[in-house]
Amino acid sequence: MPAELIDADGRLPLPWLAAPLVRALGAARGHALLLCAAPGLGARALALGLAQSRLCEAPGAEGVACGRCAGCRLVQARAHPDLLVLLPENERRETGWLLADDKPEGDDARRKPSRQIRIDDVRGGLDWIHKTAARGRGKMVVLHPAEALNPHAASALLKTLEEPPAGTRLVITCSDPMHLLPTVRSRCQQLVVPPPEAAVAEAWLAGQGIADAGVLLAACDGRPLDVLDWRQRGIDAARWAALPSQLVAGRPGVLAGASVPQAVELLLKVCHDALAVAAGGGGRYFAAMQMPGGLSLPALAAWRDELLRLARTAEHPWSEALAVDALVAGACRALGGGADERGSAAREPGGPHARDGRAPTSPRRAS
Ligand SMILES: [Zn+2]
Repeated sequence: MPAELIDADGRLPLPWLAAPLVRALGAARGHALLLCAAPGLGARALALGLAQSRLCEAPGAEGVACGRCAGCRLVQARAHPDLLVLLPENERRETGWLLADDKPEGDDARRKPSRQIRIDDVRGGLDWIHKTAARGRGKMVVLHPAEALNPHAASALLKTLEEPPAGTRLVITCSDPMHLLPTVRSRCQQLVVPPPEAAVAEAWLAGQGIADAGVLLAACDGRPLDVLDWRQRGIDAARWAALPSQLVAGRPGVLAGASVPQAVELLLKVCHDALAVAAGGGGRYFAAMQMPGGLSLPALAAWRDELLRLARTAEHPWSEALAVDALVAGACRALGGGADERGSAAREPGGPHARDGRAPTSPRRAS
């Protein structure tokens, strides 16, 4: 996981966040700011950088944290008395932003950490907010992401958004503000974080040891942290390009190691392009030649609905491996594959298209 705080040289770890940070520092007139950023752009790092800058005791000209003062060092040590970071439990464990009531790792290692921000997490925070700020620069609450708030936690938070104690500021992140309670949305000033320019993202990824990231960056909608995550999960450009043909062939291990949400995310992209190609358009994530021939729009539409339904289910009670195998089988059926009368040999990239009279060339664009 890349660093997320402003370092001792005053540098942001994710360079494309520099401009949004300055905008956030200039724009935050109210007490609550909602940072709207797609996943994979570093919303958590931006919220933390904003909190660090507000708590910095010697900020630069544009208000960005210096990275060296006592306030910055306390934030870097995750020990600043005026900073509360509310994350889902799984992210707290991953990043070290533990809450006072979190047991040290090991005590409850057998339980899977929650992906939600729960009412108890928020309640503890609300008590903390009403105590006096220790270092005189007010208090900062970072809440990431708003989508992880369960309904009880969201309504507890609402009260604070209505009447926050003087000197307290909240930074809330979300990927889609339309999915938030309108009452939460209306109490926050909103700031949209755009994806970085491709050159900036590719240069940063090269610095992370990922050369030629262009294909994966396009496959990830321009989100650099998603590319990093994919590469750590063993997905490179070649494996990505081969995914549709592997699914058609019904290879059970094609999504091995993926969680259900990760598998659903990948399959939604295959499904999106299969629908586009079946409707006579071009692909967004794959070249049209990488899609199988003979696609059925009704079968693909039903598959998309099923994937979207699964995408809305946050927690999955069944075995992940079995569920991912079932997803691969469903993908194979929807894409018209299977080992029945066709056989997988004819399903390698390019094969079916020649048979269907479709030229195996670059992606065709819808006119
Ligand atoms: Zn500082």
